[in-house]
Amino acid sequence: MRLETVACDYCQSETSEPVYDVNGSEKPERFRIVRCNECGLHFVNPRPDVSSIAEYYGSTYYAHQAPGDGPTTKERVRSVALEIMGGYRWRPFGALLPRGLLDVVVPASSGKTLLDVGCGSGERAAWYGKRGFKVYGVEISEQAASFASAKGVEVALGQLMDANFPDDFFDVVIVAHVLEHTHQPGSYLREISRILKYDGLAAIAVPNIESHSARTLGALWALLEPPVHLYHFSRSTLGKYLGKSGLRIESCASKTVYSQMIRKSLVSVRHSRSRLARLSFWVRTGWLPSLLQMCVRGHDASDAFTFYCRKRRAS
Ligand SMILES: [Zn+2]
Repeated sequence: MRLETVACDYCQSETSEPVYDVNGSEKPERFRIVRCNECGLHFVNPRPDVSSIAEYYGSTYYAHQAPGDGPTTKERVRSVALEIMGGYRWRPFGALLPRGLLDVVVPASSGKTLLDVGCGSGERAAWYGKRGFKVYGVEISEQAASFASAKGVEVALGQLMDANFPDDFFDVVIVAHVLEHTHQPGSYLREISRILKYDGLAAIAVPNIESHSARTLGALWALLEPPVHLYHFSRSTLGKYLGKSGLRIESCASKTVYSQMIRKSLVSVRHSRSRLARLSFWVRTGWLPSLLQMCVRGHDASDAFTFYCRKRRAS
């Protein structure tokens, strides 16, 4: 494993302050999450370099769903919700469902070519493929990519930068919970902007380091996940990145991934804290305080958020 010390990817500042020291995923190591003094971006520093990072993705990390496996009940419910919210059926009811229910909702009228970056075994891309999109994916896991191909997704194996898609090619690019895994989010966003058509839609979902749960749980926040998550964004820091990359934010949807996230966080609390401390976490991070925070701070308090952006026309 090789560690590298890096400057801020957004503003290149080399001054930062430590925020958390956290146990790494997979291995008994500790990683430091720092906050850039200039722009506020949070990132792991020092961090495993590109050639070492795969060691931290356990064999169970990727969702490898074989084409023969049928959808679970949860997936069926999500599929119906997505159809309604995206206007694929029962269009008038779409506005009644909260947009943050799902990570990404691509409206039915979004065009023809769709790329899912980090497509895994291709469930999401295949879903859009069945509804008229010509679907593409990028995936670093060979096994997952082969499952996606079998579902009719045109998959480029490897990193987005190596796929060499043409300029102005896609109507839609989905980047759901991928950006925080990359070593250079700035280059990544510029590449997304390059391959997107003018006025094309990019849907970018990330965990929210300024969320109520992140602030309350601190180093125990389950979504910190270093070094698998190398970066942490807020609406402010990701918004600045997008502006620099030629993408104009059209809207934002909040998602609270409360149950699974809090459950994971409490597993780490269990061994280190008293019962009283655990109870205190429940009281402070439960549904009611989370909802109250969402009412007061809006998108800023949600566990994760999705920016829907359009590629700006060159002026
Ligand atoms: Zn910075």
